[in-house]
Amino acid sequence: MTGVVVAGGGPAAHRLAAGLVRYGYGGAVTVAGAEPRPAYNRALLGSVLDGTLGADRLSLPALPAAVRQLTGVRVTAVDRVRRTVRTGDGHELPYDVLVLATGARPRVPRVPGLTTASGRLAEGVRTVRTAADCRPLPEGPVVVLGGGIRGVESAWALRRNGHEAALVHPADDLMERHLDAVGSTVVAQWLTDRGVTLHLGRRAGQYTRGKVVLDDGQVLAAGTVLLCTGTVAETALVRGSGLEVREGVIVDDRLRTGDPHIHAIGDCAEHAGTVGTTVLKAWEQAEALARILTGRGQPYEPGRPVLRPRTPGKDMVVLPPAGPGPTTGTGETVSLLDRARGRCARLVLRGGRIHEGAVIGSPCAVTAVSRLYTRNTPVPADLLALLTGADGEYAGDGALPEEAVVCHCNNVTSKALKDAWHCGAHDTAALARATRATTGCGSCASVVRELCTAFADDTTAQGARP
Ligand SMILES: Cc1cc2nc3c(=O)[nH]c(=O)nc-3n(C[C@H](O)[C@H](O)[C@H](O)COP(=O)(O)OP(=O)(O)OC[C@H]3O[C@@H](n4cnc5c(N)ncnc54)[C@H](O)[C@@H]3O)c2cc1C
Repeated sequence: MTGVVVAGGGPAAHRLAAGLVRYGYGGAVTVAGAEPRPAYNRALLGSVLDGTLGADRLSLPALPAAVRQLTGVRVTAVDRVRRTVRTGDGHELPYDVLVLATGARPRVPRVPGLTTASGRLAEGVRTVRTAADCRPLPEGPVVVLGGGIRGVESAWALRRNGHEAALVHPADDLMERHLDAVGSTVVAQWLTDRGVTLHLGRRAGQYTRGKVVLDDGQVLAAGTVLLCTGTVAETALVRGSGLEVREGVIVDDRLRTGDPHIHAIGDCAEHAGTVGTTVLKAWEQAEALARILTGRGQPYEPGRPVLRPRTPGKDMVVLPPAGPGPTTGTGETVSLLDRARGRCARLVLRGGRIHEGAVIGSPCAVTAVSRLYTRNTPVPADLLALLTGADGEYAGDGALPEEAVVCHCNNVTSKALKDAWHCGAHDTAALARATRATTGCGSCASVVRELCTAFADDTTAQGARP
């Protein structure tokens, strides 16, 4: 029996291997990952960058002993006829099923000076993709290239860590793929208030050690240049193998490539025209494939994961368009802007449900709207109350309904957290260990902290009651 070989050692590979064991897969499971450490939660790297989390705290739960886990081992070739893969350390692994979970790599813009003649990043230039990338930055100003979600998060994190930070973005609006112009302006104001210097509508024209020259001739001091310029699905392993690859490796609703023995999940896979870029999607696909490979599976149906950019102290959520179809011009658009308080919202509704949108600056509205979107439930009649967070669904005082999902990554409800608290998990770390809440994208950490306080207050009040 040869079993499943997983090429890649990120969150998708980890969740798949754990799922296969949990669902009683009968064969051997081998995970070969190129990084020198077992899978960790890449989505939490922003917290390493801002100094709130040590890189050693990113680890995902240890895989069951039944899984053979190879670290620092790159899969270098696939022989589809003999059904074997070759590894960089010279071994050959046979498979019945090969799963590609090779993730994505940073996109490096073609700016003179960013890379050396041999194609490596020049001194002082960094990407933000691996735990190794997030080692402490040297003193000195940092220039962030790219104003998408990762760029905004990174600039935010750098300021928290006391770095002088400038952000350069070619579009006039930050996060323009996810926000309208109003939302972008609010986020830009947040960053400016935090001390980030914005250069919007500008490109880096050249880098030499210590400085970035912009396309309008401005010179920015740059102890470090941080590339937040997007990612590219890592498909090198199977390019030229005969499998169909567009942006990612093409898979069908069973997450299967054109070869019935090869599947692909996570950031390297392209399903229904979309390449994954979120850990939620990677985990969703890993879970679906574990079920499929153990004979329990329905075809994979993408869920409705929300994006929660990590800007601690300022909440926002982006709701990507749900399902196919034009994203603008159809449906009813509801928007709200409260510039003075740095908050705004825009929802596109279809059939009384949220199709897409974003909520910025109002934690209560972020929570309430995320729930409505994720569950695809009808919006309440009083939309103004919903968007100002005043509809009472969650008043920020720990009064979440028991069935409310707090941690979307791990599907942990308010009730599960309460039960864990009553079983002795009395702080956020203990609740995380007991329920896995906060160990996904980490964006629920503040809610979990609030709940923790609320549970403690409740217990004290009950104890004090005559
Ligand atoms: C800074 C940052 C913040 C993020 N924040 C969020 C967030 O808040 N929410 C969210 O949902 N998502 C977030 N993401 C995205 C999320 O981390 C990814 O979507 C997720 O990691 C994808 O998981 P994966 O396992 O498919 O790929 P990856 O995490 O990329 O893992 C792939 C692994 O496979 C290895 N590999 C590649 N090729 C080979 C090979 N040939 N052989 C062996 N191993 C190989 C790679 O070295 C890597 O370790 C963030 C990403 C970054 C970088």
